[in-house]
Amino acid sequence: MAKPQYEGYSANTATILVSENLAGAKIYNQNAKSLLNKATGFISSYDFTLNPYRGCQYGCSYCYAAAFSPNPKMRGDWGKWVIVKQNAVNILEKELQGWYKKNPDKPPSIYMSSVTDPYQPIESKQLLTRSLLEVMVNYQPTLVIQTRSPMIVRDIDILQKFSRLRINMTIPTGSESVRKDFEPKAPSVPARLKAIGKLKFSIPCNEENDVRFSITVTPLLPTLPEHQVGFIRKLEIADRVVIQEFHASHTRSLVAGTREEAQAIKEKYGWWYDNERVSYLKFKEKLDSLLSGVEIKEGKEGFGYD
Ligand code: SF4
Repeated sequence: MAKPQYEGYSANTATILVSENLAGAKIYNQNAKSLLNKATGFISSYDFTLNPYRGCQYGCSYCYAAAFSPNPKMRGDWGKWVIVKQNAVNILEKELQGWYKKNPDKPPSIYMSSVTDPYQPIESKQLLTRSLLEVMVNYQPTLVIQTRSPMIVRDIDILQKFSRLRINMTIPTGSESVRKDFEPKAPSVPARLKAIGKLKFSIPCNEENDVRFSITVTPLLPTLPEHQVGFIRKLEIADRVVIQEFHASHTRSLVAGTREEAQAIKEKYGWWYDNERVSYLKFKEKLDSLLSGVEIKEGKEGFGYD
């Protein structure tokens, strides 16, 4: 057995290093105690969050989820490790059975995922998110999937079978150069736009299936002036567009943009960040004037299912 890295981060739970280098990350297996966790904060309107993985290979510079790393070393290495919840399928099945025993007529609402991306690179080999969808489809929860990965189109065949589904595709900027600065390991902006188009085309919304599509421009990163109009017009493919300031609050620690990595990159974009509030409001004005037939929501309000 390979010697565990990051020793001591979880003294009571066996953690096994299974791969040294998958898309630049160390991969671990671990048994989780629970899969469905009480939803709080900006997604408190849901019953549960569901995170198939712990850690995230995309390693976005501004990611608040890094704060939930098991220890400071792993927090510093955010993006370079992933823990696979190897017993996730069994646990989820039991938890959903337990929910329906107590609430036979009330499907739970589930937000997948709040502190990882369910379609990060490991998912292409692991198929864990897909396996969890296969479990959930039998219980028909209200499901929201939050991702920035075009890999989600792989699962269209299962997603078509959910009756209450919202897919949130995160696209915080319309400029590839900005995306490469803030989230260099994440998929390109055009690939995400193409994916949401394919999803919308392939998953019907009718009397039986209430399916919706959001593009979450969160946190709102700079979009170069020459790209703004073109980007906003492309957002029209969604039912809802959500924006959120990079610094929604300076008093809370778990907001985007609090990490040093992001702070350093921001210095390059003084034309936007020197007066961030004004930049935000101008972008919002453009959304309002250029988008028609699309719901535009801000912050927490945008992350609800309805
Ligand atoms: S994809 Fe989401 S969870 Fe993953 S690093 Fe980026 S912001 Fe964090």
